[in-house]
Amino acid sequence: MDNKTKEQRSQNMAAVKAKNTKPELLVRKTLSCQGLRYRLNVKNLPGSPDIVLTKYKTVIFINGCFWHGHNKCKKAILPKTNTDFWKKKIETTKIRDKKRIKELKNLGWHCLVCWECAILHNRYIFYIDNGYLYYSIRKKGF
Ligand SMILES: [Zn+2]
Repeated sequence: MDNKTKEQRSQNMAAVKAKNTKPELLVRKTLSCQGLRYRLNVKNLPGSPDIVLTKYKTVIFINGCFWHGHNKCKKAILPKTNTDFWKKKIETTKIRDKKRIKELKNLGWHCLVCWECAILHNRYIFYIDNGYLYYSIRKKGF
């Protein structure tokens, strides 16, 4: 039987939700379908990347378009109120993202960034080249 309190359970739900976002699940599904094995949230790497493919020395970051400031993306338009606050917050995130990718590259990891909007339209196709994982993007309407 489940002996957790209602509060504990909702905390668990919140934790699970943050880790298993819809875009992340879709990417994992695509990788699985292509027979690619991965590990999740590897804590001993800079920025604990969302998905790690040890065999291909590749990490994948799943970026929400708004939070990570996707360039020229409709989902990344700043709110009309508190615009400066959001602008600063997102700029900070972008700087942090760049830094952790640089750290990973220095450790010999190949880094892929997948954006929420393109994931939700199922536009990533992964492939292996020269021992690393890459992606190509399907054209719109495909
Ligand atoms: Zn986007």
